[in-house]
Amino acid sequence: MRSVSVLGATGSIGESAFDLLMRAGGPGAYRTVALTGAANVARLAQMAIALRAEIAVTALPEKLPELRAALAGSGIEAAAGPEAIAEAASRPADWTLSAIIGAAGLPPGVEVLKRGGTLALANKESLVAAGRLVMGLAQANRATILPVDSEHSAIFQSLQAENLECVEAVTITASGGAFRDWPLERLARATVAEASSHPNWAMGQRITIDSASMFNKALEVIETHEFFGIDVNRIRVLVHPQSIIHAMVSHRDGGSIAHLGAPDMRHAIGYALNWPQRQPLPVPALDLAALGSLTFFAPDEIRWPALRLARDVILAGGAAGAVLNAAKEQALDDFIAGRIGFMDMAPAVERALTDASREEGFGQSPADLATVLEWDGLARRLAASKAGAA
Ligand code: NDP
Ligand code: MG
Repeated sequence: MRSVSVLGATGSIGESAFDLLMRAGGPGAYRTVALTGAANVARLAQMAIALRAEIAVTALPEKLPELRAALAGSGIEAAAGPEAIAEAASRPADWTLSAIIGAAGLPPGVEVLKRGGTLALANKESLVAAGRLVMGLAQANRATILPVDSEHSAIFQSLQAENLECVEAVTITASGGAFRDWPLERLARATVAEASSHPNWAMGQRITIDSASMFNKALEVIETHEFFGIDVNRIRVLVHPQSIIHAMVSHRDGGSIAHLGAPDMRHAIGYALNWPQRQPLPVPALDLAALGSLTFFAPDEIRWPALRLARDVILAGGAAGAVLNAAKEQALDDFIAGRIGFMDMAPAVERALTDASREEGFGQSPADLATVLEWDGLARRLAASKAGAA
């Protein structure tokens, strides 16, 4: 029986993975090693009991008594704190889903790679902050990374690995998020509640706001570069309001292969779970006749400056990805807390990047986790001080 672990089980991606595992037969079909969460320990315990997990871990030490109480009598181990999450990730499992939000997902993912495991990667932040390190660890330990971000799963499924030289461009699509059709002058006054609703995808709040600002797409451009090794000038972003085409690989012979599907993350998660096979999944079939038309337009970089920052970061290399990711997380915290406006996020990130670029060693790719975390800490301080000054 295959064994699985889910890091970030209580989140939006984690819930979709849980749904797939339960539909497949739950503990009768998979042996669950570790499930992790943070604040929502009641749900974590419920999932751990349903899947008969070996261990359940919350990121928050103060939540451990509650988790223990919820697991009482189940025989399931309980633990807490970031180190306990990393330890749980290091336990052998055939397949591990990395679905923690933010840079906190990087250390446990590194543990999976160090043990040569298969890492189904939803946590794009790992590749943005530490692409070189993550890909290097995978290679050195013969670990496998399978993309779970829908666009990257789509590229993975569309790309024929043997002919990367024949790839002219890779296009990832963006719905345009909550504010696609808003007049520009209204964006500065956009509220957190307005930014937290997505036209097509049901996702966690942070990535939903990142979709409205296009920072999500900016992270995905960097993720495309790091994971597939595609040059920045061959990566394109296309606004596609219906979110049916997720990505397209265009070849030098004039043909393109696109990947289509209903906007349901269970496709990409299930594809990674069953890879290299394909199995039936509970994803609604596409009905193009009912949809009638698919539309596209080029993104406007005044509305969405994050896309320009993604290109700058790829060209800068070194620690720029770690800085962009952490500065973006800080700016998002500041927006959610009401300290800065929606349109202040990109300038705060850009200024943090400019300031960090004057620091020694900025041009070198971080060689270990500790160095990534140092840049991460610096970037958060730089971005926060900008918010304070604003
Ligand atoms: P959610 O916010 O819904 O869930 C995040 C998960 O991480 C929860 O289990 C949460 O626990 C846990 N968590 C939060 N903070 C920490 C922490 N500091 N340490 C450890 N665990 C923590 O996020 P999503 O599911 O939306 O996204 C997860 C990842 O997948 C992100 O990297 C995102 O970019 C990526 N992704 C998401 C997509 C989506 O459709 N949602 C699509 C493509 C990629 P708790 O809830 O118990 O507090
Ligand atoms: Mg995506």
